[in-house]
Amino acid sequence: MDIEQFRKAGYQAIDRICDYYYALEQSKVTVLPDVEPGYLRPLLPASAPESGEDFSQIADDYQKFIVPGYTHWQHPAFLAYFPAGFSFEGVLGDLYASSVSNPGFNWLASPSCTELESIVFDWASQMLGLSPSFLNSSGVGGGCFQNTASEAALVAIIAARSAYVAAYPDAKLEDMRIYTTTQTHSLGLKAGVILGLTVRALQVTREDNFSLRGETLRAALEEDKKMGLHPFILVATIGTTSSGAIDNIAEIKTVVKDHSEIKIHVDAAWAGMALVCPEFREMCYLKEINEIADSFCTNFHKWGLTNFDAAPMWVRDRKYLIDALDITPPFLRTAQGDAGTVIDYRNWHLGLGRRFRSVKLWFVLRGYGVEGFQKHIRKAVDFNKIFVDLVSSSDLLSLCAPPSLSLSVFRVNPKPATPDQSSLPEETLNDLNKLFYGRISSRKDIILTQTVLNGQFCIRLAIGSSRTQEAHIREAFELITQEAKLAYEAWAQ
Ligand code: PLP
Repeated sequence: MDIEQFRKAGYQAIDRICDYYYALEQSKVTVLPDVEPGYLRPLLPASAPESGEDFSQIADDYQKFIVPGYTHWQHPAFLAYFPAGFSFEGVLGDLYASSVSNPGFNWLASPSCTELESIVFDWASQMLGLSPSFLNSSGVGGGCFQNTASEAALVAIIAARSAYVAAYPDAKLEDMRIYTTTQTHSLGLKAGVILGLTVRALQVTREDNFSLRGETLRAALEEDKKMGLHPFILVATIGTTSSGAIDNIAEIKTVVKDHSEIKIHVDAAWAGMALVCPEFREMCYLKEINEIADSFCTNFHKWGLTNFDAAPMWVRDRKYLIDALDITPPFLRTAQGDAGTVIDYRNWHLGLGRRFRSVKLWFVLRGYGVEGFQKHIRKAVDFNKIFVDLVSSSDLLSLCAPPSLSLSVFRVNPKPATPDQSSLPEETLNDLNKLFYGRISSRKDIILTQTVLNGQFCIRLAIGSSRTQEAHIREAFELITQEAKLAYEAWAQ
C-alpha cells in the first residue's frame, strides 16, 4: 500500500467506524453477536495468501467476517465485567501513535514519547488527587503505563521482593508471603504463580462488606512472623471486581506503622477513576493512599474514557522499580541515560519496547477536561442509584452487597408472600439464580456477569459505558425482572 492508497483506505475506515457507532447508538445491533464458537475458521482461508491482496478486498472481509463476531463493549446495554473505556479522542490518539510505530523504550528512542508520558502522568496524577510525591516532576516518584493492572501488580511485587531481599538477605524465597484478600482480583494469585511465591489471601467477611480490616492484617502479620515467615507486600484493593469492596486503608495504615517493612500496592483498576470527583475521595481512602501506598494503579481503559489499553501505575520512589528492573547491556546505554538527566521507562516495566500510549491519554484529558471526567463518573453513579432503587422496590430481587459507585450485585430472592412464610433456603436460591443467569446469558440483548459472594451465586451489573442512558438502565431492569419471573416459575413447577 502506498501513501495515496493509505489515504483512500483510511478515509473509508473512518467512515465505516462512524457508521458502526451510529448503528450502536440506534441499537441496530444487539450487545452480543449471533455467532457460535469456531464460526470464523471456515470463513477464512487456511493459510496466508502467497501474494499480497488488494486492500479494498481485505477491508470488505473485515466488515463481513470480523465485525459480526464482536461483543459490543460500547453498546449502551453492555453492563458486564467493568466498562471498557472509549472515546474518539482515544481512537485518534492510537491512530497517530501507531502511525509512527515507535517502541519508545528510552528517551533517545523518541524524546517526545518519553516526555509526553512523563507530563501526561503528572496531569492524570493531579486529576486523581494523588500526592505530589507521585509526580514525575518530583524527580523521586513518578508513573508510567504498564500493560495492564495485572502487570502493574506483578511489577509492584517484583519491586517489593527486591527491596525486601536487599534489606533482609537471609529471607528465603519460600518463606516470603504476598498478602491479598479473598476478594482480590486473580492478579494476586497469578503473580504468585509467575514468581513462584506463596500468596496468603486474608479473609474478609460479609459483615465488613468484603473489605480488609486492620485487625485481620495485624493478626496475619503477627502469626506469620512468629512462624519465621516474611510477608513483604499487601495488594490492597479499592473496588474489588466481585462487589466493589474497598479495603480499609485507614486501618491498614495504623497496622503498617508497626510493620514498616511491608510494601503496599493499591489496585484501584476500576474504582480509581472515581477519585476525579472530590466527593468519592474519602470513601476511597485517598488521603491514606497518599500517605502509605508504595504504588498505585488504576485503569483509564476501564472507567476512564480511554481505549484499551491504558493502565497507569505510580510509585512513590522510582528507585523502587529501577533497582529491581534496570538491566542495561552496552547496546542500551545512551549519553542521556548515563548522565541521569532523562527517564528511561524501560526500567519501570517488564518489557523493553513500549507502546506510545500517552498520546491517546493526552488527547482524552484535553478533550474532556477534568469536568468531562467528573460528569462521566457521576452519571454512572447516578444511574446505579436508579437501578438500586428499582431493585429495592422489587419483590423478586435483592442486593447481595451494598452498591459500590456504579456497580450493583444482586440476585433473585423472592420476598415471602406472607410474613409467616420464610425465605427460600440458600441452596435453593443458588439453584434458582443459576437458572436465572442461564436465561439471561442465552439472550443477545443484554450482558451481565456472574459472581459468588460468601457462597451466594449472584449477578453483577456494572454501569459506565458512555453510551448508556437512564432508559437503558430501566430497560435492563425490566428485562431482568421478566427473566427472574420466568426462572422462578420454571423452578417452582
Ligand atoms: N483489578 C481489578 C479490581 C479488576 O476489576 C480488574 C479487571 O476487571 C483487574 C485488576 C485486571 O485488570 P487488567 O485487565 O488491566 O489486568
